[in-house]
Amino acid sequence: MSLHIKPISAFEDNYIWVIHNNKTAVLVDPGEAPPALNFLKKNNLKLTDILITHHHYDHINGVEDLLAMYACTVYAPKDHRITFNHEPVKENDLINLSDLGVELKVTETPGHTLSHICYHNSDWLFCGDTLFSMGCGRMFEGTPEQFVDSLHKLKQLPDGLMVYCTHEYTLSNLAFALSLEPKYQALLKYQDKVANLRQLQQPSLPTLLQFEKSMNPFLRFDTPSIQKIISEKAQTTINSDVDCFAHMRRLKDIF
Ligand code: ZN
Ligand code: FE
Repeated sequence: MSLHIKPISAFEDNYIWVIHNNKTAVLVDPGEAPPALNFLKKNNLKLTDILITHHHYDHINGVEDLLAMYACTVYAPKDHRITFNHEPVKENDLINLSDLGVELKVTETPGHTLSHICYHNSDWLFCGDTLFSMGCGRMFEGTPEQFVDSLHKLKQLPDGLMVYCTHEYTLSNLAFALSLEPKYQALLKYQDKVANLRQLQQPSLPTLLQFEKSMNPFLRFDTPSIQKIISEKAQTTINSDVDCFAHMRRLKDIF
């Protein structure tokens, strides 16, 4: 049975990812119920599971209404701020989505929030607000050390993974990335491509992990070239990967 992964638009710029086989479906981070319910009904899908990456409202607010309609299992990080019925999951837990024949592994990625988790197998990475195309999430709760460790974990995953982020932030991330490296041809080319897609109201996601490893400045905190650029922009000396990340994140916050 072939599997499909589709984005369902929610709010201004969120995607609720749905994995389905034309019969049953799994949703990732349903921040709103109506668009998800519409999709399920229109495609005649039965919801079996929901995966939650973190407790922010734009990732969980649809869950209660979905639970009222479907007897499904919700997987989420252990966090007292998540109050609906769910199976708490932690580092290296395996989630068996048996109807789809899919198994996903849990990776803890504190930084955006303290209990943020990602889900992956050998093909896909659902990374919530930890990693975006050409950017990363805001550091609301974690420390730069934690965020760097988390991004480092994602960098260890295979190049060929398709990355399913929760927000369509690619163009604004590219503007910042290009402010650091204005002459980087691959970035300029990607900006053209994404601008075209967005003009056609197409998502820029998923993205390829290899592509992010080689171009996303927030995954390159350990490279001398990015460290040099950040030290110039932030007018400070950079002594470590963590330093580099912390200053880059701050520059992006005020960009
Ligand atoms: Zn968030
Ligand atoms: Fe979010």
